[in-house]
Amino acid sequence: MGDRKEGIAKAEAENTTALAASYDSRIRPLLDTIDRLRHLKVMQEGIELPSIVVVGDQSSGKSSVLESLAGINLPRGQGICTRVPLIMRLQGHPSLSKPQLQLEYKDKIIPTSEAGISNSISSATAEIAGNGKGISNTPLTLVVKKRGVPDLTMVDLPGITRVPVHGQPDNIYEQISGIIMEYIAPKDSIILNVLSATVDFPTCESIRMSQQVDRTGERTLAVVTKADKAPEGLLEKVTTDDVNIGLGYVCVRNRVGDESYEQARDAEKRLFETHPLLSRIDKSIVGIPVLAQRLMQIQAASIAKCLPDIVKKINEKLSRNALELKQMPRNLSSMADAMRAFMNMISMAKESLRKILIRGEFDEFPDDMVMHATARMSEMLSKYSKELPSKCPSADERFLMEEIAVLEEAKGIDGLPNFLPRSAFRTLLRRKVKEISQIPSEFIRKMWAYIEDVVVRVLLHHSENYPQLQSLTRRAAENLVEKMRNRSYQVMEESIEMEMVANYTSNADYMKTWTELMNNHDKFINAIEDPTKPTKLSLEGFDEVEVSHLRQYVAMAEQAFDLRMRITAYWRSVVLRLVDNLALHILYSVNCLVEKEMEMELVDELVGPRMSGLERMLEESPSTAGKRERLGKSIGLLKEAKEVVAKIMDRIDAYGD
Ligand code: GDP
Ligand code: MG
Repeated sequence: MGDRKEGIAKAEAENTTALAASYDSRIRPLLDTIDRLRHLKVMQEGIELPSIVVVGDQSSGKSSVLESLAGINLPRGQGICTRVPLIMRLQGHPSLSKPQLQLEYKDKIIPTSEAGISNSISSATAEIAGNGKGISNTPLTLVVKKRGVPDLTMVDLPGITRVPVHGQPDNIYEQISGIIMEYIAPKDSIILNVLSATVDFPTCESIRMSQQVDRTGERTLAVVTKADKAPEGLLEKVTTDDVNIGLGYVCVRNRVGDESYEQARDAEKRLFETHPLLSRIDKSIVGIPVLAQRLMQIQAASIAKCLPDIVKKINEKLSRNALELKQMPRNLSSMADAMRAFMNMISMAKESLRKILIRGEFDEFPDDMVMHATARMSEMLSKYSKELPSKCPSADERFLMEEIAVLEEAKGIDGLPNFLPRSAFRTLLRRKVKEISQIPSEFIRKMWAYIEDVVVRVLLHHSENYPQLQSLTRRAAENLVEKMRNRSYQVMEESIEMEMVANYTSNADYMKTWTELMNNHDKFINAIEDPTKPTKLSLEGFDEVEVSHLRQYVAMAEQAFDLRMRITAYWRSVVLRLVDNLALHILYSVNCLVEKEMEMELVDELVGPRMSGLERMLEESPSTAGKRERLGKSIGLLKEAKEVVAKIMDRIDAYGD
């Protein structure tokens, strides 16, 4: 008994002094920093912290290794015990008379004891991953504060198994390897590969996995367990290094059966000192204390290496979040605030629309051709003018027969022969204008549909900070365009009506064209009066015309010819007016829309007699409020993290490391 006590004391003292000497004030602050960063949950901000990840095939002895390092008992045994990632934070506290343990998961902190730890972990695992054999990647954190433990933070992961045991989901292998990959893939993770001395290393699943992410093994350390069970050939196995373990091997013997932690360390020590085969292995790569020391060195080096990068990431994330917060709409607290924001929104929208609908400046939407409105509108206009027939259409294919029919009808009213009745001209013109009147109305429909699209997009863009206003804004824009479109229809109908009722043009082109066309007169009359002349004529301004059918209407043909030439000359003025008037009207309307009507409509819709829209602006939408809160929190946290890291960096500089 006395012997054993002495042994324990000796082991503990050795542990404590060895650790205290190597991991004095230089390493501990690094770990504290990482722990604090972990505590600040910077991982949630996408910043990765270096960690030691324990991987190994099922029953290779992962939990046993962690137990040995922590000096505590973890759930251990056959099959799958570790079903969720277990983050173990070991902290050596030389002055602590009694170990302090606690489990943290799902925002809960559960104090526990060395005796109760195994049960606490089992029930927490059941709470996270269910009572069956399923697994989960929600981690469980175990904090162990104890005299003599190394300052280490490690993650224990479920062991890999190819074959699902009874009650496990079929895809258990995929699930587990997914979790393992998530932890070992980051370049800053140190992979602690636990290999049982009883197996052939190259056949280990965990070796295959770690080689996928760390081919050269530069961040992989191997722990060979169960040295006591398979001492033969172990020396050769670790010296030949068939599996590329860059950070080297450490051979250990864990607790067996009901041994206490201290008994296990004693037995291990004796084993490597006295066993005929195992004693030949270099002392620098055997035993749990060596493993602890190696891990702490590796961990400290890895943290020191990562810190500058962590600082950079924290800063980047911080400025990105700060910018995002700045760009968020201000929290409006009074009606005056809301009014100001509303008026600001209108003036921004106005300026955007002015640029794209009037001035043709597309800097706000350089690559969005749809929003290059002046260009698109001019295309639509020229398409419209091409759709209007430039030559007056004729209902009868036979030259002048339509005119003759109209003249026949008009005869009864005006009576005088040889006198071109005004009513014939008007009747014909009415008919022709009516025929094309669908074209302008279709143009108006398309044009306003396009303008509506542009206006709605610009307004929604400028009110995107107020999602609660978007439907009102859209409605205002639609109402407004509806009004403008109806006005355009009215204007168009009026101008068509004018064309039908009145004939007038001051266009000098009319007389010129008519005179030119009338140059064909004698040639035409000759052809119908003289039966010997050819019946096909080529007349200026027309395609070749056939006139044989007109020889029976000699008297009326001359009038019909005159009528046709007048209509033809006049038609050009009609088309020109239909295009120009409508174009001018649309441009004018767009101008009115941008400069005054839009504002009036929005004020009516959003402010209204009861200011209901403005009131809505005051209620921040839940999503905006949530985002603001999230950003605020994240910024606070990152600032704190930044300070924590800055402090430790200063210290590292002071040490000259
Ligand atoms: P895990 O599934 O990788 O976590 O493996 P465990 O730590 O649960 O160990 C599996 C079994 O191997 C347990 O019964 C342990 O007692 C046993 N074991 C682990 N390490 C050693 C060792 O170094 N020597 C001996 N003899 N048995 C060990
Ligand atoms: Mg385990």
